[in-house]
Amino acid sequence: MFYRSHILIEMSSDSVVLGSAQIRERFQREIERLGLTQEVKILDTGTFGAGIPSPFVVIYPDNVVYAPVRVDQVKTIVEEHLWKGRPVKSLMFTPKQGMETQSFFPHFPLAKEKRVVLRNSGHINPAEIEDYIAQDGYLALGVVLSQPPEDVNEIIKESGLQGRGGAGFPTGLKWEFTRKAGGKEKYIVCNADEGEPGTFKDRLILEGDPHSILEAMAIAGYTVGAQEGYIYLRGEYPECARYLENAIRQAKEYGLLGDDILASGFSFHIKIRKGAGAYICGEETALLESIEGGRGEPRVKPPYPPQKGLWGKPTVINNVETLANIPPIIRHGPRWYRGIGTPTCPGTKVFTLTGNINNLGLIEVPMGTTLRELIFEVGGGIREGHGLKVVQTGGPSGGTMTPDLLDVPMSFDTLPKYNSALGSGALTVVDDTHCIVDVVKNFCEFFLHESCGKCTPCRIGNKRIVEILDRMTHGKGEIDDLQKLTVLGEHMKRTSFCGLGQAAPNPLLRCLDFFQSEFETHIREKRCPQNVCRFGSRKGNVAE
Ligand code: SF4
Repeated sequence: MFYRSHILIEMSSDSVVLGSAQIRERFQREIERLGLTQEVKILDTGTFGAGIPSPFVVIYPDNVVYAPVRVDQVKTIVEEHLWKGRPVKSLMFTPKQGMETQSFFPHFPLAKEKRVVLRNSGHINPAEIEDYIAQDGYLALGVVLSQPPEDVNEIIKESGLQGRGGAGFPTGLKWEFTRKAGGKEKYIVCNADEGEPGTFKDRLILEGDPHSILEAMAIAGYTVGAQEGYIYLRGEYPECARYLENAIRQAKEYGLLGDDILASGFSFHIKIRKGAGAYICGEETALLESIEGGRGEPRVKPPYPPQKGLWGKPTVINNVETLANIPPIIRHGPRWYRGIGTPTCPGTKVFTLTGNINNLGLIEVPMGTTLRELIFEVGGGIREGHGLKVVQTGGPSGGTMTPDLLDVPMSFDTLPKYNSALGSGALTVVDDTHCIVDVVKNFCEFFLHESCGKCTPCRIGNKRIVEILDRMTHGKGEIDDLQKLTVLGEHMKRTSFCGLGQAAPNPLLRCLDFFQSEFETHIREKRCPQNVCRFGSRKGNVAE
């Protein structure tokens, strides 16, 4: 049926919390009331990205965005825009500073963006496989099935794609190790367990374009010789689970998953396993333990999963963002992919902008984009009248960047030179109204809560660090606490069993370096320069 207008309503979990399901229902009612059901179609879609507040509504072909939309505004939009043909200017979204765009579409992608992973998000209905197919979805799988697996593996190696979960390990190599490992039983695991504060990119990728992950997993399975895949999904992502279950069912109905895909003789089945909310289960071997029904604790490495993974069989574990790159690489070729980003770190990176930044949300830019461009051009800068204090890259376990490092290109190979890390892509911007002791304590409390308890340096070290920082923020710090914190942190980095304990002291140690005087003020003067720590009951920032 031909419709004169399509209404795309954001149905990411953020927008559902903010009432997008009620907004959709109200649109439906108003359209029926005015007899427009044969002319106007409502569709769900994923997130647009940074800077456009949720929930948003886009009306095509007019390219008009309303955001954020409230239920009580729907009647006006339908009557004025869809019935009388007069877009409601007062409710239309107005781009903020830094939101210059690069295409005919007025709201995205932003001028600095390059969308590979988020190519379909905000464009298609993630609940309809036809929408994905219309964007050349599953074409890459069809192409791959007519090629020898080793050729497909070579394409991924040549592309230079590195794992986007944080470690940056070459994906093609990981696939090759698993392909060459012996045995007939192998597995593909999609790591969709993200739990670090400020990190939510995988959720929005899955909610915006779930079929791209299924297609990539099937391609990986064909390449390495696996017939079964698991998506390990964070338990707190019910919307993702709904989209994925629906997508798996649709792909099976279309013969794009299951037995004998596209009559090629290749079979691939995908199951979803939901986590129970433990951050450590994002660590690849703890994740495997959890899928197998065990307690989510890391395993000793080596052996690594490509040799001995799920149920002891060779296993590829790829992050959601990594997988989302696979279909476009197959379709456009490794040379195209290498044309994006930097020579040593090709492709794009999805970042989540959080904290004291004007444009919050998801953004995808070429690797090598600087922090300055991300914060001040894409992110629209920080609140007026405030200075930048620090940027935490890659979540609490990543790295701490100070304003003098704003021109460092963001990539897997550059940030370690500054004791920092790209990590999961979370960028938490902290302005000068924040107390650094309080910020660091907050991060350390997270690690204390999430430590699995398997090894002593992490289990006890995190506890002691939080106790000391807590004393400081209550005016009870002692001058030798700074030395104690440094020794504890260094000890944890060297002796903790897994990456969580090894990375937990990073923000503390970096901030002790950069902001020693602020720690000392809390200890010597019993005073919080930012008036954040509540030392006393009367004035707030002075210890009694
Ligand atoms: Fe568990 Fe922490 Fe030890 Fe990792 S470092 S095994 S999270 S206690």
